[in-house]
Amino acid sequence: MQYLSTRGGGSAVSFSGALLAGLAPDGGLYVPASWPRFEVADFAACRSLADVARTLITPFAAEDVLATAMDEITVEACNFPAPLVDVPGAGYAVLELFHGPTAAFKDFGARFLAASLARLRPAGAKPLEILVATSGDTGGAVAAAFHRRPGIRVAVLFPKGLVSPAQEQQLTCWGDNVQSFAVQGSFDDCQQLVKAAFQDPVLRARHELSSANSINLGRLLPQAAYHAATALAVWRRDGRPASFVIPSGNLGNALACVWARHLGLPIDHIVLAHNANRTVPDFLAGKPWQPRRSIATLASAMDVGDPSNMERLKSLYPGLPALQAAVSAEVVDDGAIRRRIAADYAAYGRIWCPHTATAAEVMARMPAARRAAGAWVIAATAHPAKFREIVEPLIGRAVPVPGSLARLYERPSSKVEIAPKLAALRAALAADAGGSGAGR
Ligand SMILES: *Cc1c(COP(=O)(O)O)cnc(C)c1O
Repeated sequence: MQYLSTRGGGSAVSFSGALLAGLAPDGGLYVPASWPRFEVADFAACRSLADVARTLITPFAAEDVLATAMDEITVEACNFPAPLVDVPGAGYAVLELFHGPTAAFKDFGARFLAASLARLRPAGAKPLEILVATSGDTGGAVAAAFHRRPGIRVAVLFPKGLVSPAQEQQLTCWGDNVQSFAVQGSFDDCQQLVKAAFQDPVLRARHELSSANSINLGRLLPQAAYHAATALAVWRRDGRPASFVIPSGNLGNALACVWARHLGLPIDHIVLAHNANRTVPDFLAGKPWQPRRSIATLASAMDVGDPSNMERLKSLYPGLPALQAAVSAEVVDDGAIRRRIAADYAAYGRIWCPHTATAAEVMARMPAARRAAGAWVIAATAHPAKFREIVEPLIGRAVPVPGSLARLYERPSSKVEIAPKLAALRAALAADAGGSGAGR
């Protein structure tokens, strides 16, 4: 299988080429040159999420150096469950994507990418340096997934003082091959610094640099797998295609669901639940595509004003009418998020994180007839314990912390503070290379 840039430039690359590069050289995103097709019967022998992932992803790695490792890689990526839990009385079920090491759906993609890149390191090569700028969830998932992988180091850059205490702990508790930098600046400064590093001849000579951000093909495929597994479970249970409501920011999770449907899985409607960052809902309503600065909301992991994966959606559905037929989108502001968390706790005893609450709100607004006509599933993208400061006052009780998170909170943390300057990053990476390069 070959991969092409959404912008049409450059030549086709292999599966592992797309994973290693992240972004295409012309600035576009990699998409498959052709699409495998599946039927429900192709998954008849699947007993687990990892089985579905292997069946679904294997054709994407056909003829690649990673092809023979796909069994192991999918097992490593999907070693925790994504249960579909009914919400009695609500008229929908919840796909819980938060049972991984950092309690958000990003663990699946990060683990798949880590398992893949770890197998692409030639013996004796200089360490691969993964640079991640993060405003919260991505950095933790990537750090957890790459922690103690031989031949790979991770530098996590976050804006000093601008992430919650729980998030900071997840970014700084790793040690070993993961180093955490508190950048004296904003998230945008962190992103600028990563971009500058990729263009810096000094750093490029010293390190082999890579990114693990959400536009990487390797992050999308396992996400398509859990949507596929869910659709298959609903199909077996109800004989109906599943419809999904997906809390969305950069559109990686929603795009993966769209891909699963395109591959032939029984999926009907796909609704994108956005926070007050309304770039996508406005566009689907017929306004011009207008990227903008992101607005800070309670659902902070969805604060994206210029969602990158729109480019992949548009490449699959060129033209507004096709896109409008493929997905719909709604805006849920902070007031509605707060009210939904309180109301659904009172009504169903379920505790949503602020991101998941946007999807629950979309369901609550949905006309009863439309709700009854579909087999609806909302994606729960993070565990509410990651957002206790927001959730606990709304429900008037403590949120139980899952064991995986509790263990992270107990680890010692360490970070290095740096100025938002390329010279500072260079010096910090060189200093770290002396220590952890030997695998301390
Ligand atoms: C990243 C994230 C989202 C948004 O997902 P996209 O793939 O960027 O659309 C939603 N919820 C949580 C908890 C996240 O971490």
